[in-house]
Amino acid sequence: MKAVVKSAPIDGPAGTEVRDCPVPRPGPDEILIRVAAAAICGTDKHIYHWDPSIRDSVKPPRIYGHEFCGFIEEFGERAHREGFAAGDYVSAEMHVVCGECVQCRSGNGHICARTKIYGLHEDGAYAEFVKVPASNVIKLGPYVPLRVGALLDALGNAVHATQIADLAGKSVAITGFGPIGAMAAAIAEHSGASTVIVTDISDNALETARRWAASRNFANLHAFNVKTSDAAEVKKAINAITGGVGVDMVLEMSGSSAAINFGLDIVRMGGLLSLLGLPAGHSVTINDYTRNVIFKGVTLQGIIGRRMYSTWQRMLSLLRSGLDVEWVVQATFDSLQEFHEGMARFDRHEALKVVFFPEGEKAAQARLR
Ligand SMILES: [Zn+2]
Ligand SMILES: [Zn+2]
Repeated sequence: MKAVVKSAPIDGPAGTEVRDCPVPRPGPDEILIRVAAAAICGTDKHIYHWDPSIRDSVKPPRIYGHEFCGFIEEFGERAHREGFAAGDYVSAEMHVVCGECVQCRSGNGHICARTKIYGLHEDGAYAEFVKVPASNVIKLGPYVPLRVGALLDALGNAVHATQIADLAGKSVAITGFGPIGAMAAAIAEHSGASTVIVTDISDNALETARRWAASRNFANLHAFNVKTSDAAEVKKAINAITGGVGVDMVLEMSGSSAAINFGLDIVRMGGLLSLLGLPAGHSVTINDYTRNVIFKGVTLQGIIGRRMYSTWQRMLSLLRSGLDVEWVVQATFDSLQEFHEGMARFDRHEALKVVFFPEGEKAAQARLR
């Protein structure tokens, strides 16, 4: 089968090869899945460029890719799942947890200390076939288009970031309108948020946000460029939008110190910050910890992965009830052969999400039933 392999510990096309690999054999507790569609995640970009942040996790040669959907091809000897059959349309949670640590045994498997990620620590989904533990396979319905099935991992991050609060009637600020910020905006609108405020440093991203809101007839989007406008002015505008109290909830998607501090500045007293963006280094300086964290009595919640499996359940409910995120897929390719081109377009921010169909979109579509 064709697969995208991190072939050497170097940056760019020289370190990633699209090549023939043997089709994996499912272990006793694994299911082999024929990949219908796979998306590029920010993590894959770090693998492609061999950034320091992922060097400890990936040992070349490694097939990467962890956002995908496909069809059940074969079950391992013991890999029975009630109601699952060959040909079923599925995705999978690619964080594989130990099931034994304190976190796992208290319903918090998403923060398992021994998490292994397929597509980093084990072979992943940029291939015609991928094997995953049977317990991690998620059955999908016809309400999940293939292009969305390809990015459920990322959508799950956005759902996890928003599911810690009831968004109905709330003012929500999203700092960073990349793919996850964009999906978070869609979730906020779908969930009845009264106001969605988007900040970014790219006019392009803000334009995408405005076009999305217009397409939804959503009048309560306010988009601000926090690079070209004065922060104090933007804060004043947001204050006016929220009736002088500040926003109920901040979804921090950028990892930038400036954005984190801005979020703390605009959140209301007793508000909530859902923090998902990763800073370039490991540290962030909080400008006014006394006033903006302690005196404001805010709650800071770090978001990692997806809750297993309440985030998946919620995500599928949202999609079933009409949540539309297909528009974030802005480039598709009908083979893995064009992986380098797809990555280049993702790199240049020409597409919020890039999706590959290893056997072509039409052929994959024909397998849906
Ligand atoms: Zn990812
Ligand atoms: Zn564990």
